[in-house]
Amino acid sequence: MKLYSVKMRASKNNSHISGAEKIIGKPALAAAVTAMTKRALEHSLGEADFINLKIEAAAKEDITVLPALPVSSCKSDTVDGSIKVIEAKLRELDISDPQKIISLLQNCCHMRGAILYDIYTGTRMEPDPIRGVRVTYMDSCLDTQSIINKNHFYEALVLATKVAHAPGMVAELCISDDPNYTTGYLASLKHGYLRLAPVKKYGSSHGGRIFIFDSSKTSVGRLIDYLEKAKILVSGIDTSYFPKQSVTEYAQCSLAQLKKQQLYRTMTVIDTPQNKNITVQQKPLLLFSSNDYLDLANHPDVKQAAAAAALAWGAGTGGSRLTTGTNGLNTLLETKLAEFKGTEAALLFNTGYTANLGVISALADKDTVIFSDEYNHASIIDGCRLSKGTTVIYKHNDMADLEAKIKNTAFSKGIIVSDSVFSMDGDIVNLPAITALAKKYTLFTIIDEAHATGVIGQTGRGAVEYYGHTCHPDLIVGTLSKALGSEGGFVCGSRLIIDYLANKARSFIFSTSQNPAAIGAALKSLELITASCEPVRSLQHNVSYFKQALSGAGIKTTGETAVIPVIIGNEQTALQIAAELYAAGFMVSAIRYPTVPEKTARLRIALMSSHTEQELQNLAGSIKKAFLKHGLLS
Ligand SMILES: *Cc1c(COP(=O)(O)O)cnc(C)c1O
Repeated sequence: MKLYSVKMRASKNNSHISGAEKIIGKPALAAAVTAMTKRALEHSLGEADFINLKIEAAAKEDITVLPALPVSSCKSDTVDGSIKVIEAKLRELDISDPQKIISLLQNCCHMRGAILYDIYTGTRMEPDPIRGVRVTYMDSCLDTQSIINKNHFYEALVLATKVAHAPGMVAELCISDDPNYTTGYLASLKHGYLRLAPVKKYGSSHGGRIFIFDSSKTSVGRLIDYLEKAKILVSGIDTSYFPKQSVTEYAQCSLAQLKKQQLYRTMTVIDTPQNKNITVQQKPLLLFSSNDYLDLANHPDVKQAAAAAALAWGAGTGGSRLTTGTNGLNTLLETKLAEFKGTEAALLFNTGYTANLGVISALADKDTVIFSDEYNHASIIDGCRLSKGTTVIYKHNDMADLEAKIKNTAFSKGIIVSDSVFSMDGDIVNLPAITALAKKYTLFTIIDEAHATGVIGQTGRGAVEYYGHTCHPDLIVGTLSKALGSEGGFVCGSRLIIDYLANKARSFIFSTSQNPAAIGAALKSLELITASCEPVRSLQHNVSYFKQALSGAGIKTTGETAVIPVIIGNEQTALQIAAELYAAGFMVSAIRYPTVPEKTARLRIALMSSHTEQELQNLAGSIKKAFLKHGLLS
């Protein structure tokens, strides 16, 4: 395989901040360039304003592979102890004045290159005594793709191995000029790579590198030529020297961090089925945070249907839909869902989450640009990340921004994807504008109706009905687990797109199909919603009633649906208010970063069709009381 030498040098205000080099194969080249550029732009010393990247092909014959010097360590109690060891080792190499060489380094600081010291004449020979002699064109044979942090030991070992093999070289001595780093090394073919600590006092910025050579064995020109130009790969590096962190330790640190930021989350065990009235540790609570908007999860007919489906079809399906997992139940539900949403066809997924993953990653290839609302649900974000397309985020429901971004982006295939009802803000997508833009610029449209199905539109059919059937997205994603009270995800669209997804959506193909009970329940829920729009109407009444109650109490909200956000801002205050409401008998979620942007922590109130006007009034009153207490209302 052909190899390439890649070198990066970065500076800021004309002063060096970072450098790196590699000798690697073609497949790793682009990633290495990206990583080096990133390193230069995100360096702790500042963002580089000048990056010099040099890439050269290197013929295999021009590269010498050298075995890494064997590594050993020597720890002393004092700096003097280490210096004595160095002196003794240098004498073993027939160097008569080791103290002179060591003191050269002890008085040196901030040299970019190394001192070149000739033991034959006892003089320094580097052509530029300020800069020193540099060593380049070297790397290890290790696969270093995944090395994120620069490892000083490993880089030093590569350099020391190259230097030790230079013509006329006797030894190299290195004392770092980094004030925080007191480990140094002595390297030679005779002694290998000897790590020494401590070689200087902590906090001292004196140090550098010295190459000790013998001019009776080589010319200075030949030596410098080797150091600067010979291409060397070092094999056999012992990777146990890489600093290691256990994954458990990493997890522990992450959790501690979350707790410090008040972002640590725990699970509340609810003792009763999902109903507006629940108990937690025997405390009765009125539930205002469930997505079971139409009270179907615990509906007697729905439970009965789940049980009947399990009895008739079993507890599981034993395979994915394309193997043994397709039965009459899932195909019937698909037909009913397509009917309900007014599309040609539908396809079931295990959850709404995996529906978004599968749909977006299947539809967007590398030539696709996905325009995604900044407040889209995490499953849409993850679908975009999983796809090979490019994601362009537009401002929340801002059609001018969306159009500007479409105009400013060169793409062959494009998709607009948006929540239909936004899950944390409860507002509704501007579907007429989105479909008009899609038509104008030839884009495919996807809306996610997780919080819209059973909630908006006169009969709960979602955004298309809400907008009076004047506009139609290309694809609707939905969930069976919110207003439909069951579990599962689905998509509705044209027969062609559904066929495509059944063949291409990996979360559909490689996962066992849903259990019959979930499907039986969803079929019954759909039947109930279609038979009577009473629950939907009751939910919609509660939405307008509660919004009025809030505004009567002087509290603002942007919600237009069953999701009503009350923005508090501060994470801690949001948690406190939720706790106070809890004490007063209301279960309301406090939603924080990362679910919503930082400093927009909020109460997220979810309404159900069964909440009474009195209950809604009581909640509004309690929120007002908490707001007054925390100085959020005057
Ligand atoms: C809840 C939700 C999902 C995920 O649906 P599940 O069936 O719970 O996995 C997807 N999209 C949006 C907008 C949601 O609110």
